[in-house]
Amino acid sequence: MTAAAVPIAVELLTIGDELLLGFTIDTNGPFLARALGEIGVRIARRTSVGDRAPEIAAAVRDALDRTGAVITTGGLGPTSDDLTKPTIAALFGREMLLDQAILEQMQERWRTRFQRPLPESNRQQAMLPAGARVLVNRHGSAPGVWLEDDRGRWVAMLPGVPGEMRGMTGDELVPLLRARGAGGGIVIRSTTVRTTGISESLLADLLAEMARGFPGLSLAYLPGYAGTDLRLTSESAAGPAADASLAAAAARLRERVGSYVYGEDDDDLAAVVLQLCRERGLRLAVAESCTGGLLGERLTSVPGSSDVFRGGVIAYHDDVKRVHLDVPEAMLRAHGAVSEPVARQMASAARTRFDATIGIAITGVAGPGGGSEEKPVGTTWIAIDLGGDNRAHRARFVGGRDEVRRRASQAALEMVRRAVSSEPQHAMP
Ligand code: AMP
Ligand code: MG
Repeated sequence: MTAAAVPIAVELLTIGDELLLGFTIDTNGPFLARALGEIGVRIARRTSVGDRAPEIAAAVRDALDRTGAVITTGGLGPTSDDLTKPTIAALFGREMLLDQAILEQMQERWRTRFQRPLPESNRQQAMLPAGARVLVNRHGSAPGVWLEDDRGRWVAMLPGVPGEMRGMTGDELVPLLRARGAGGGIVIRSTTVRTTGISESLLADLLAEMARGFPGLSLAYLPGYAGTDLRLTSESAAGPAADASLAAAAARLRERVGSYVYGEDDDDLAAVVLQLCRERGLRLAVAESCTGGLLGERLTSVPGSSDVFRGGVIAYHDDVKRVHLDVPEAMLRAHGAVSEPVARQMASAARTRFDATIGIAITGVAGPGGGSEEKPVGTTWIAIDLGGDNRAHRARFVGGRDEVRRRASQAALEMVRRAVSSEPQHAMP
């Protein structure tokens, strides 16, 4: 048996004041981590700095000292806050030189695409550190740069604009790293088992023993409003062996976790529910109060949902519940809008009024105001009416308004999934 090559590690430096001020969320880091992981290159550290030359220089110098391999995003634009190239050139002791070929390509691009001459400020983008290699940008104007010193330490500079950065990663960076033997045949692969309706800690208890029995795989618990994802990752020799061990481990997780599992990888519960209903010839309609259409939005986001999803009402005000869902005035007065009988009536009216087989209703206190001792913020009644079989469930969702609403829509979908699924189900939490 030969020793597996160690995957190379790189550091990532994202550059831009907007990242530090909180106006832009760094999406380049996660994208690069996944794209590089596929070729066995691990990101050892992520750093962000503002548009300031001393900070950029210090961060690149430190990263080169540690890892010798650095990818930067941002600061390649034509404006005065775009300092990445000259700063890193200075660090490498290289002059900035005008690259005539790039200048001409940019002039051509402006002539043909924008029917205008190249603005003076864009000329700066044709300046490259001496000895640099160009990373061609087919998705925008700023070319990327690959700069390497005589010890083989390198910096790859990509633009900050996510679409350009992504395109160039695939077109230029990944092939270049592969050509340099990145990963030495090691690949990072993941598979995700998606669960809902069970807490992260209960899952961890359930899986405590089993998780130790996945040699070579790591198991991560990733909780979110949709539930807890179980992500298995293999970092090993490429090819079918890794896929087979991931698939076997995922199958064991699914078996152990049972009916809390609703899908894998990017599966959305709305799509899963639609497919179950489609197979059974069921039609859905919704009556939403506190979620204000979120459930309908999730269902209609799935292409081809029209054969299952009929429509519904956003019954936010009590008048709408009364007039459009036949909720009696007396019921609203006696129990309040967030109550079991109101939820049940909303579900059955949605079903009958929209000629569906299943009506789904959500009524809750999304907050931040409106809570009481009896019905604190997060209290939500969800009801489904399946051909006259009417079931209701009370939940108390945690989090802010947005989270309560998202959790409520997820729980409503989960209730439908359990109701129509042919396998035996755990009770709703
Ligand atoms: P730049 O290449 O610095 O001119 O970046 C241009 C734009 O790309 C910025 O205004 C941001 O909106 C976006 N951007 C820069 N860095 C990132 C990042 N790490 N993640 C997501 N967007 C970014
Ligand atoms: Mg910038």
